[in-house]
Amino acid sequence: MEKNAKIYVAGHRGMVGSAIYRKLQKEGFENLIAKTSSELDLRDQQSVKDFFAEEKPDYVFLAAAKVGGIVANNTYRADFLYENLMIQNNVIHNAYLTGVKKLMFLGSSCIYPKLAPQPLREDYLLTGTLEHTNEPYAIAKIAGIKMCDAYRDQYGCNFVSVMPTNLYGYNDNYHPQNSHVLPALIRKIHEAKANNEKQVTVWGSGSPMREFLFADDLADACYFLMQRYNEPNLINIGTGHDLTIKDLALLIKDVLSYDGELVFDSSKPDGTPRKLMDVSKLHDLGWKHKIELREGIELAYQDFISRY
Ligand code: GDP
Repeated sequence: MEKNAKIYVAGHRGMVGSAIYRKLQKEGFENLIAKTSSELDLRDQQSVKDFFAEEKPDYVFLAAAKVGGIVANNTYRADFLYENLMIQNNVIHNAYLTGVKKLMFLGSSCIYPKLAPQPLREDYLLTGTLEHTNEPYAIAKIAGIKMCDAYRDQYGCNFVSVMPTNLYGYNDNYHPQNSHVLPALIRKIHEAKANNEKQVTVWGSGSPMREFLFADDLADACYFLMQRYNEPNLINIGTGHDLTIKDLALLIKDVLSYDGELVFDSSKPDGTPRKLMDVSKLHDLGWKHKIELREGIELAYQDFISRY
C-alpha cells in the first residue's frame, strides 16, 4: 500500500476496525476514510453504492459486522444472518464495481465445522456441520469468503479473507448478556469484587476451550497480510494456544485480584467444544502475535476501567 493510498476501514468504531485504523495511522497513512453507521448504513444498497462511487477507495478493510457472544448469536439469529450478508454483499460488490485494488474480508473461527479436528486448518472449511448457536453468523461469513473467491475467479479482483480467532482488546463490548466470554468475565469479576460478592457465575460447564488474540495483534497481522497475502482461500490469524473457559476465569480472577468462588451455570450453552486455530500458514509467512494473554487481559481491564 502506497503511503498516500486512499484506504477505507469499514467498521472503524468497533474493536477490530478501530485497532486497524490506529495501526494505519501509526504507519503513517493519512488518506483514511471512515464513516459511522449513522453517516453510512452499510446494510443499505444505494447508500453503499453512492459512497463507493464518490470516494473510490484504493484499499478496503472490511471489519464491519454485527457481532456478539454465544447468547447474542443464538438469540438474534435472523439479524446476524441478514445484517452481515447485507453489509458484506454491498461492500464487496461495490469494491468490485469501483475497481478497489485490494479488499480484506474479516471472518471468524466459527466458520469451521463444530467437530473439526484440532487445530483448525484452513482446508477444513465446509467439511462438516456447523455449531448451532452461531450457525447464522458462520453462514454469512462463509458466504463472504466465497464471495471474495468468486470475484477473484470471475473478475480478477484481489479480495482476500482472513479468519481471526476469538478477539478481545480496546473498545470491546462489555454488555452483560451480549458480549463474548472474555469481556463478560472481566465485567462480572470486576463487579463482584466491587460489590463484595463471594461468587461469580460462569456460563456452561467451563470445559470448552478457546483461543484469544488481542485486537491490536490482529490489526498488526491484517496490515502485514494486506501487504503480502494475495491468495484465494482463507488464512487463519491466532496465537496457536488455547485454554479452558475455567482456566480463563481463574486467570481473570488472578489479574483482578478477586478471591471469590466460580459457579458454573449449566443452563447456558457451551457451544463448540474447541476451536484452536492452526496458524502455521501465517507463521510460515513470518508473522507471530506479540501480546500474551495475561498482558492482554491487563490492558483490556485498564480500558474497561477507563470507560465504565
Ligand atoms: P463462542 O466462542 O462463539 O462460543 O462465544 P463466547 O465467547 O460467547 O463463549 C465462549 C464460551 O464461554 C462458551 O462456552 C460460553 O458458554 C462460555 N462463557 C462462560 N461465561 C460466559 C459469559 O459470561 N459470557 C459469554 N458470552 N460466554 C461465557
